[in-house]
Amino acid sequence: TTDRAAARNLGGPPAAAALLDAATRLAATLPVTPSVAFIRVGDDPASESYVRGKAKKAAELGLHSHVHALPADTTQADLHALIGTLNADHGVHGVLLQLPLPAHLNADAALACIDPRKDVDGLHPVSAGLLWQGQPGLRPCTPAGVMALLDHYQLPVAGQHAVIVGRSALVGRPLAGLLLNADATVTVAHRATPDLGAVTRRADLLIVAAGQAHLITPDMVRPGATVIDVGINRVPTDTGKARLTGDVHPDVAAVAGALTPVPGGVGPMTVAQLMMNTVQAAQNQTAHDQAAQMQADQSNGASG
Ligand code: ADP
Repeated sequence: TTDRAAARNLGGPPAAAALLDAATRLAATLPVTPSVAFIRVGDDPASESYVRGKAKKAAELGLHSHVHALPADTTQADLHALIGTLNADHGVHGVLLQLPLPAHLNADAALACIDPRKDVDGLHPVSAGLLWQGQPGLRPCTPAGVMALLDHYQLPVAGQHAVIVGRSALVGRPLAGLLLNADATVTVAHRATPDLGAVTRRADLLIVAAGQAHLITPDMVRPGATVIDVGINRVPTDTGKARLTGDVHPDVAAVAGALTPVPGGVGPMTVAQLMMNTVQAAQNQTAHDQAAQMQADQSNGASG
């Protein structure tokens, strides 16, 4: 760390609070209480804790949630059957499959079973397609959370050269789509990119989701650039306890114009965006139900 830190600190909590507030206000306009179902398979402690955190946040906002904890030996067919039941349940607006799944299960096949209208994690192929076509749809929570953070701090996106490091289905790829839709010029770098620094130095807006502690050092950042650190790495310390650190070296604060901390940066945005997605899914489904009801009433009237 350095005491020459110049970068503006882009803290997650105030931006997350604003997003949660917007979700709460939207929920209050709906005729139903938004409801989300979490599916978790096996006993991965990290998945358990993530799902607990999401359910707790939903409860804080007055949303309904239910956790379906399936045993580690759950079959693909059992998993698909549960998703099918939740898809058909009009009282459930969102279905979230917590990843990773045990090795014997196919996550992509299971995700594809979720009704796209209930796809609050935004990972269904239809959601990805809508994003890339620039059409409305549910967006993956971490990338959408990054966009909400940029918006909260009024950082410009249109016309900026955004460089993303990482091309995962969860973060890098969807973020590229969101930034394109927001009129940025987008470069995506990844593991096979030679001379990463030459690419990242061209960024006005540098977003790092590579899962590599301190991959981005000060020499790789253009002075004044906005740097968003999506990485959350557990690194061992002298005391033997793990510490959380990002993909961006702390000394980057001396070069960047603005920087998200880890922890306490993008992290809180992900869960806040999930709440917003749940409320939006409920809004879409109630609008859809009302339209279907009106159509049914009309045809009943015509025939009767
Ligand atoms: P996340 O879930 O945070 O997106 P993943 O581990 O799924 O992380 O993806 C890591 C991504 O980061 C991959 O697209 C990979 O190509 C990229 N990446 C990993 N290491 C490097 C590196 N040293 N330089 C550039 N890109 C990297």
